[in-house]
Formats: sequence, C-alpha cells, structure tokens
Amino acid sequence: MPAMFIAVEVDPKVVADVEAAKQLVEVCPVGIFAQDDSGRLAIVDDNLDECTLCDLCIDAAPAGTVKVVKLYE
Ligand code: SF4
Repeated sequence: MPAMFIAVEVDPKVVADVEAAKQLVEVCPVGIFAQDDSGRLAIVDDNLDECTLCDLCIDAAPAGTVKVVKLYE
C-alpha cells in the first residue's frame, strides 16, 4: 500500500482531558495516540502513516473534536 499522509487534529479541550485522551489511546489500532506523564494527549507522529482511516477515534471523542485529515497519498 502506498504511504498515506495524514494529520490528526484534536481540540485542545480533548488534549487536556485525561479520560478522553485515554479513550483515544485505547481505540486507535495503530498507536497514533499516547499520553504524556501528566495524562495529556500526545500524537505519535511516527505512527501517523499507519492510520487506516477507521474513524474509531472520531467516534470515541465528543463530536467535532477529532479530525483526521488526509493530506495526500
Ligand atoms: S482513524 Fe483509526 S487509525 Fe486513524 S488515528 Fe483514528 S483511530 Fe487511529
């Protein structure tokens, strides 16, 4: 499969919400989300090209707070 270039945009409220961040870490099958020492959401840039566009993160977060943007392929 050719590499896909994806950007994940997360609302700052979700980034700062430890429980919401935990949900995102749990749902993403390819490990694009992580939490830092304080529980804030972090994006694992090295895994972004593994995104399967499954939309599980979008479904797991409050409506409109997570966007998966396809840049080009
Ligand atoms: S669309 Fe799926 S693979 Fe991509 S970041 Fe969201 S949960 Fe992970």
